[in-house]
Amino acid sequence: MITLFPEMCDTVLGESIIGRAQKKGAVELRCHQLRDFAFDKHRRVDDTTYGGGMGMLMKAEPIALCFEELCRTIGKRPHFIYMSPKGKVLTQEKVRELAGLENIAILCGHYEGVDQRVLDEYIDEEISIGDYVLTGGELPALVLTDSVCRMIPEVLSDDICFEEESHYSGLLEYPQYTKPAQWRGRDVPEVLLSGHHANIEKWRHEQSLIETAKKRPDMLVKLELSESDKKLLEKNGLL
Ligand code: SAM
Repeated sequence: MITLFPEMCDTVLGESIIGRAQKKGAVELRCHQLRDFAFDKHRRVDDTTYGGGMGMLMKAEPIALCFEELCRTIGKRPHFIYMSPKGKVLTQEKVRELAGLENIAILCGHYEGVDQRVLDEYIDEEISIGDYVLTGGELPALVLTDSVCRMIPEVLSDDICFEEESHYSGLLEYPQYTKPAQWRGRDVPEVLLSGHHANIEKWRHEQSLIETAKKRPDMLVKLELSESDKKLLEKNGLL
């Protein structure tokens, strides 16, 4: 990650599952301070915009120097992503694609953004985390990094963890319950206590379908539904 706030990113990435993944060597994450690559007289990383307007823009040269140094250190050119509200909105499909790459560099913008010329020169793609604007690219870069890292083998305890999750297969995850079996008058669905694996699988699939149809009908239209799936949704008034 190329950022003006490496400590902010290091703190988040050092915790919990991603922190442990780094310790055991499943992933290697580095946050690079862009200011270390500002070599002009005033060591500036930002300046006013040509044509006028409010706010400052990140300068091209420190970003180029940082990226070039990164390429030399790694020994090859990493896939270079700029976190931007103008980018394509991140999806699980994109996350899965990026998890297959060996090296990724992520540029976090700040202020009004980045001089277009360095984007044109080096950036492979722009990614947004949603149609809203944040003050900086650090949170979006952390979102991207977290989502990509958890798809890398050995980061999670078991690959099944993400394969059954929302979005992986195009459906939302089924509802889940933990102990106690009864809580404030609400029971865990009986089938989950039955120990009958085939019935549990069937129930989970049906609940995934219902959950998706209720909460994200836009996802459902992209799926090829089986006849029994269609019948279930019809029965629940969801098709
Ligand atoms: N002037 C820019 C525009 O209108 O597109 C917005 C700049 S924003 C205030 C500063 C930085 O935050 C951006 O350069 C980008 O790196 C990051 N950023 C803000 N919102 C984002 C989003 N939804 N997804 C990804 N990055 C975002």
